[in-house]
Amino acid sequence: MSELKYLFGPAPSRRLGRSLGINIVPAKICSLDCLYCEAGRTKTTTMRRKAYYKAEDILKEFKENFDKFDDLCDVITVTGAGEPTLNSELDNIITGIKEITNKPCAILTNTTTIHINEVFMSLLKFDIVVPSLDAVIDNIFKAVNLPEKSVDTVNIIAGLEKFSKEYNGKLFIEILFCKNVNDSKEHIESLIKVLKNIKCSKVQIGTIHRPPAYNTACPVSDEFLLETAKLFLKHNISAEVTGGFKNIYKTSASLDLDDLIPALLKMRPCTLLDMSGVFGKSESEIKEHIDNLIKANKIKAEYYNSDKYYTTV
Ligand code: SF4
Repeated sequence: MSELKYLFGPAPSRRLGRSLGINIVPAKICSLDCLYCEAGRTKTTTMRRKAYYKAEDILKEFKENFDKFDDLCDVITVTGAGEPTLNSELDNIITGIKEITNKPCAILTNTTTIHINEVFMSLLKFDIVVPSLDAVIDNIFKAVNLPEKSVDTVNIIAGLEKFSKEYNGKLFIEILFCKNVNDSKEHIESLIKVLKNIKCSKVQIGTIHRPPAYNTACPVSDEFLLETAKLFLKHNISAEVTGGFKNIYKTSASLDLDDLIPALLKMRPCTLLDMSGVFGKSESEIKEHIDNLIKANKIKAEYYNSDKYYTTV
């Protein structure tokens, strides 16, 4: 398989299962610089929308390679090592993907552009939209997401409320909690007030599981997540706690793991178990490839919370 520029994975998604990713913005074109980002720090945050990658090039690669991934993924996920809605050709991209496959197509967004009409209209075309909403109070938002200076929670909340009323697909709001940053009792109460006005399929709450951009960022406890989910449910907000990737399956399909593993790790660090789950191969088989890739200086191992993660060099 020739080296892929835009497709990666299938990646172990905490939210969606086995997801074939399409990276539509380069690292790290983003309007935020989240403490917990798995793709490292954002050097300069931006709200500028442009064709960072051309729809034509992305769709060409997708069309030429999709059949190799078809059996390995449950969903196509438009994402990026940054904010995908900053690609001004988003509409052409989703329209083109839908012409190639009937698989559900999801997008992960940090929600900072949802008030822009063109983005709003493009998001309506996805089957699954996963907007982040880690904070609903400006000073907490600034502390956890370090936004570009023009971004504020007023536009985000109003845009998300409006979107939720017009959208017919699955809307999974994701909240990621960082200890002592967005986990206060008062902030949870504010989140509940906002979430009550948003019509969504589910609120998915989680915490840091992989090496974060800022090593000062710490995860909250499992107990906190469970109690928060219970509190949301008490207020009739459908909520669940998301954890690691558990969808383990086995396949005998022949896979070019020496190419697929670095392509996956380019987007996010993974454990051996993650990769075994994604590729449907035993841990010992994956480990053989990992050892070879480490020797070839293509990937490396690092520890986070005593778990061993692999990343690209
Ligand atoms: S987590 Fe997403 S929104 Fe936050 S900095 Fe990373 S890429 Fe941007």
